[in-house]
Amino acid sequence: MDDVKNSPAGNRNLGRAEAAGRARILAVDSYRVHLDLSGARDPDREGYPSLTQVSFSCSEPGAGTFLDFIHGGVAAVTLNGRELDLEACVAGDRILLPGLAAHNTAIVEGTALYSTSGEGLHRYRDPADGETYLYTQFEPADARRVFANFEQPDLKAEFDFTVTAPAGWHVASNGAARGREENPDGTTTHFFEPTRRISTYITAVLAGPYHRATDSWTREQPDGTVLEVGLGAACRASLAPHFDAEAIFETTKRGLDFFHDLFGYPYPWGKYDQAFVPEYNLGAMENPGLVTFTESYVFTSRATEAQYEARATTLLHEMAHMWFGDLVTMRWWDDLWLKESFADYMGTLAAAEATGRETAWVTFANRRKAWAYVQDQLPTTHPIVADIPDLEAARQNFDGITYAKGASVLKQLAAYVGREAFTAAARGYFRRHAYGNTTLRDFLDALEEASGRDMGAWADSWLRTAGVPVLGVELADDAGGRPGAALASATLLQEGWDPESGAQVLRPHLLRLGVFELRAGALERTGSMDVEATGAATELAGLAGRPRPALLLPNDGDLTYAKVRLDGVSVETLLEHLDTLEEPLARATAWAALWNMVRDAALPAPRFLAAVRRMAASAREVSVLQQLLEQAATAVASYCSPALRSGEHQLLVDAVHGHLAAAEPGSDHQLAFARSLALLARTGGADETVVDLLFGDAAIPGLAVDEQLRWALLQAAAARSLVDPSRLDEELAAAPSAVATVGHALALAARPLPQAKREAWDAALSGTGADGKALSNDLLSAAVKGFAIGGHGLLDGFQAGYWPELEGIWSRMSIGQATRVVEGLFPYRQDLGPEGPEAHPVLAAADAWLRENAQAPRALRRIVIEQRDHLARSLRAQAASGG
Ligand SMILES: [Zn+2]
Repeated sequence: MDDVKNSPAGNRNLGRAEAAGRARILAVDSYRVHLDLSGARDPDREGYPSLTQVSFSCSEPGAGTFLDFIHGGVAAVTLNGRELDLEACVAGDRILLPGLAAHNTAIVEGTALYSTSGEGLHRYRDPADGETYLYTQFEPADARRVFANFEQPDLKAEFDFTVTAPAGWHVASNGAARGREENPDGTTTHFFEPTRRISTYITAVLAGPYHRATDSWTREQPDGTVLEVGLGAACRASLAPHFDAEAIFETTKRGLDFFHDLFGYPYPWGKYDQAFVPEYNLGAMENPGLVTFTESYVFTSRATEAQYEARATTLLHEMAHMWFGDLVTMRWWDDLWLKESFADYMGTLAAAEATGRETAWVTFANRRKAWAYVQDQLPTTHPIVADIPDLEAARQNFDGITYAKGASVLKQLAAYVGREAFTAAARGYFRRHAYGNTTLRDFLDALEEASGRDMGAWADSWLRTAGVPVLGVELADDAGGRPGAALASATLLQEGWDPESGAQVLRPHLLRLGVFELRAGALERTGSMDVEATGAATELAGLAGRPRPALLLPNDGDLTYAKVRLDGVSVETLLEHLDTLEEPLARATAWAALWNMVRDAALPAPRFLAAVRRMAASAREVSVLQQLLEQAATAVASYCSPALRSGEHQLLVDAVHGHLAAAEPGSDHQLAFARSLALLARTGGADETVVDLLFGDAAIPGLAVDEQLRWALLQAAAARSLVDPSRLDEELAAAPSAVATVGHALALAARPLPQAKREAWDAALSGTGADGKALSNDLLSAAVKGFAIGGHGLLDGFQAGYWPELEGIWSRMSIGQATRVVEGLFPYRQDLGPEGPEAHPVLAAADAWLRENAQAPRALRRIVIEQRDHLARSLRAQAASGG
């Protein structure tokens, strides 16, 4: 009954202008939603009854509007007591409501569909015990997959959920449980307190035999009353033995203390539940009162401190959203940054200051910012305040700009206006806009009031332009640039261009410049200068006349957002002595600068790799070590020329192997090296070690080959034909968990056999498994990732078939599933040929597709443009790698 053309999976796009038109005439009071999930355990039932009653007013009586509902059938629609003709009012995924009164009640009865893509109401069958688990994920616009509603962030309302479910299930929603009824058919109906006014995308329902732990947090308010918040933490029952709920509650309480001190506004949502759910598409989602997280944060295998830190940062990011995003919400997705940039910055700030994780800013500098720099150099980059014409564009903007660049710029803002003014602005903003919607202007008003400064120029240059600023130091001396030569002059240079217009953009930076000398073979800080740089060139008078230092490090301390261009002497110093830098943030900034140079083809990948092999083990933070090992693997696979690749691969395997053997038994570093080796071994070079670790008794002291490491090794063994599929089946049957199920699927697809590649390819394109059933999001990813493991002999034959499939994939699958397939199957791993980097045949094929498909959906074109750019960059780096 879907009459909509060119819309993915019956998922009609909603435009900004349409949404604004609806908001102009409507004000929504409340929803009452009843979901009947009592049949969820029957896999043959594809849908469930969904009933919505929405009360709203219309400022232009007589006008018409529509509700959004992606459904498996509509049984009845009633408007103000009058039953509407379904033929006329059900238009695909819109329910048309003509002839509105001043005050209206609409009732929609229909069937909503269980999801396996992680969008809407996801249904998961636990392979360990056969139990069924459900949870919702709605951002940006998938509440309409569960109940009829006005799906846009600025039509806030109170929500009153009722859920019928099998007896004995744990059922939760945003509001606290209000009571339940046992029904004669053995099911239970759960009632919840109505919410305060919130947007549709942050409503939530959780249902299943979840394991749950409880606690509470209290705080005396300035007026003497006590605020008590009930805490809950839930996961699948089969994960309960691994669930460290006390640690989660500990971080939760510290976070609630921290944000109450910082924001001066009491937690607005009553209780605070946190649920860890299977096959989750993202890290977490800030549904008020019921935050959902990926269950990969329930550590069923040994986890490193970096993983615990990531969990704490995510937990605190979501908690910051209870204010930034949930209490005060962006009007439309253009201002998505108003919640995501703030939550990302606040999450890191709280991890560092509330939970005492001093490495949080180091991880941010080294890892989070790397994401931003990559994204901001793609042809598709955009200003932090984005232009989001529709929901597909909104969906794609949960990216490195909106999160990591935005958070980096807020870190610079806090340095620029001062922490006190920044905090005062946030407090004023919450008080003024509680339960409302805002735009950039509203935050700037609060900031200008708090700081007494005009922030217009600052906002224009940082928030309304795109692209990475580049900071470098130009030194002049009379002695040919040798270390120690007296400097005649020193200048900090800034470059920046708007990637769209090509116009120069210079931004105000407050930053620190570190000056280091070598003393007895170790780098030692001998000076530090705070610099305010606004133009293209800033004179560094303090350096003139001094000897040329061994290392000059712009953005020491990582206060601003910029790519650092090091002078030649500093590069050579770092490649030899980076490991002797004492301060963690200086080290992280230096590693990031070297990596950016490799990506820019300004430093040959083999030189970076030599530095990693020699100095990675001395990285004190395991998060930095993990990042370096990942970068090294990428440098070998993508940034070394074909002539150098196998030699560099072997050198890296040997180095990681050596570090693994030498690492302290049971340490995080040991585990990081073991995981790195398992990934490298997929392309060879460590076959014996893989087999020994899996099946032999050559155990490495302190290294537990637990579930996660075991499946990583099994995947390497499968990719090298060191293990039979029957053995993989036995491993899965022996311990059939979520990790094992996905690990098994990936291992099968990784086998270096034409038949295995064909099966994985067909599964990815059709979205169905060998049993003909739809693949879940995680199993689809496993097929795509497993397919991509293998040499040119196996994969090149599929290339020509990729391009004609793209539009079909986009129209058949949901945007989440389609993105996985289009990105994952792009033939990214290519060798530089004699034709040079610009004339590579895969680039030519991508260009031809883009030329011939100018009318393809913008979101699909964005993915192809980005993958093409990643490939072009890798070919340029190969050309610069020597060999
Ligand atoms: Zn967020």
